[in-house]
Amino acid sequence: MPVLVYEHMHVNEGHLQGSLPCLYLTEKVVAVLKRVVHDAQDGREVCGILGGGILKNNMMIATVVNDLSNISELSGCFAIAVDEILRSQSTIEDSGLLSLAIYHSHPSGSTRPSPRDTKLPQITGLLSLILADDGGKLLMECYSDVEGKLTSIRVALLTQ
Ligand SMILES: [Zn+2]
Repeated sequence: MPVLVYEHMHVNEGHLQGSLPCLYLTEKVVAVLKRVVHDAQDGREVCGILGGGILKNNMMIATVVNDLSNISELSGCFAIAVDEILRSQSTIEDSGLLSLAIYHSHPSGSTRPSPRDTKLPQITGLLSLILADDGGKLLMECYSDVEGKLTSIRVALLTQ
């Protein structure tokens, strides 16, 4: 059984059998996200889709990162062309995986959702993962839409 650790959080098997939803990220996915967030230039937000699988009811494991173009002209904002999202989702699904989450970064260093961000999970039907770089440490917050209500989802690192 892999050990699951994210920052201060230690996930044990008891959690695995629980029904609380959780998004697990592989070390490779975390490394890629860390790099793209760190490399973002001039206060630009970066964005993309995470693909992976669902192990049990509420246990999602992201194994691939597909970055997408942020077409917003404003810094501190992001927008993705719908056809690019659909293309990326097809690529993920053609490889036998599921589209799990849309991620974007906050150059401000805070993972708090903006008023627009609070609507993302409902609009996209996917999890929304907000990333921020805190002096080299990657911060992550994940949200889901549960019957119209924005709900925080745990994020954990899957280590082998
Ligand atoms: Zn945002």
